[in-house]
Parts: sequence; structure tokens; C-alpha cells
Amino acid sequence: MMGYTHVAWGAAGAVSLAALGGDGTPGTYVMAALAGGIGGAAVDIEVKDQLSNPKVTDAGRTRLAVLGLIGLGALSDWIFKLGVLSEIINSGYVALGGVISFLVFMAICHFTPHRTFTHSLFFIIISGFCIGAVYPDAAVYYAIGALLHVILDLFNHKVIEGHGVWLLYPIKFGDGIALKLCKAGGTGNKVLYFIGLALFALGTVMYLYMYKDNGNITAPIIIAIYLIVVLHFVRRKSERELRHIAHMHGH
Ligand SMILES: [Zn+2]
Repeated sequence: MMGYTHVAWGAAGAVSLAALGGDGTPGTYVMAALAGGIGGAAVDIEVKDQLSNPKVTDAGRTRLAVLGLIGLGALSDWIFKLGVLSEIINSGYVALGGVISFLVFMAICHFTPHRTFTHSLFFIIISGFCIGAVYPDAAVYYAIGALLHVILDLFNHKVIEGHGVWLLYPIKFGDGIALKLCKAGGTGNKVLYFIGLALFALGTVMYLYMYKDNGNITAPIIIAIYLIVVLHFVRRKSERELRHIAHMHGH
């Protein structure tokens, strides 16, 4: 599955969970969308970009989109006084330790073999703890984004890497789980992307409808529009790139 599909599903799962969870301030929505999107992207941290031509691929574009999401989230927190950023700053060294340990963990995992440790429950638990140190409420939204990524990857073909997903890696059961229903850039991915995006829009509407009286909803709307627009461009560019690569290989 492509990176943009995972980010759409991660954010969709997180905002839906936030809507159903009951604690509805604009800050909760923004924090949940960010944490879910980060979770969806983090699981593919082992995907290398620079090895192939063109230099920035789907994984790189997805990471840039998520970095933009984090920046926009922080900016709207500051402008609309959502209170998440000030809580993170108030927790001082614990939050700083969480950020540093998350980044170090990601840097190490970047060099693990494709679709092995990063697509395991241990990865989600360890990185989830780091996120929880930064902002405790974000851990569950991050975890749902990461978990949805692993679940979606279960539908993949395993022919490319020779193995599927081992949920308890480094403990391996056979060739891992691969249901052989979708190719990364194929029709299944596209269908799942649009389902994920529809769920994200639905979760957002549900959230805003339930909690519209709890404060200014401008920040959630900005975040929702950003995700929908940016993921659209990431998808279009990645699809063009895949067609180009297929063309070069004479298909
Ligand atoms: Zn993956």
C-alpha cells in the first residue's frame, strides 16, 4: 500500500476514535489527526528514498506531507490557543525525552529490512511509548494509525519482498501474513485510499457536528482541508511516477 493511503487511514481512524471517545475540543481533533497521520507514516520508516531514481518517491513525499501537517498543527495551536502545545512545553524534559527517543528510534528503524520489525506490534508499542511521553493522550491515536497501516499491509502481495507481515517479528511464523489481494500501487490501493479518505471526511464531519459548541472549529477545518488537498497531490504525483517507471520497463 502507498504512503498516502496509510496517512488517510491513520487520520481517519484517529479522528473517528476521538469523535466516539467523547472528549471533544478543537485541540483534541488536531492532536488526533496529527498522531494518526504520524502513526500511518511511521510504520514505513524503513522505506528508502534515495536509492532509486527519481530521488523523492512516494515514501519521501508522504513524510514531507506529514511534516507539513505537524507544522500546520503547531501553528494553528499557537494561533487558536488550542492548549496542546503549551501542555507539551509544560511537561518539560519528559516531552523532550519523548521527542528525542522517538527520533532516535525512527533513525535506527530506518535501516531495518523492508516490512519486518517496523511492521510488528513491538514497533508500535515502543514508538507509542515515546509518543505518549510527548503527549499522553496522543499515544492511542498514534497506535491506531500505526495498527491500521499494518492491517492494510496484510492485504499486500508478498512476491516483491518474498515475505508478508510478521506481526511478532523477530518471531517469524512461516512467510508471514500476505493475503495477496493488493499490489502497492494497484487498483486495490486506489480503492482503499478513497475509502480511507471518505472515512476521514466522515469522521471529521461527525466530530465537528458532535462538538461544534466546544470552541472555535477553524483549526480542525484547516487541518482537514490540508490533509485532503496534500494527499491528493501526493497521490497524483506518485501515480505519474509509477506509470513512468512501468513505461521505462516496457510495460
Ligand atoms: Zn507498510
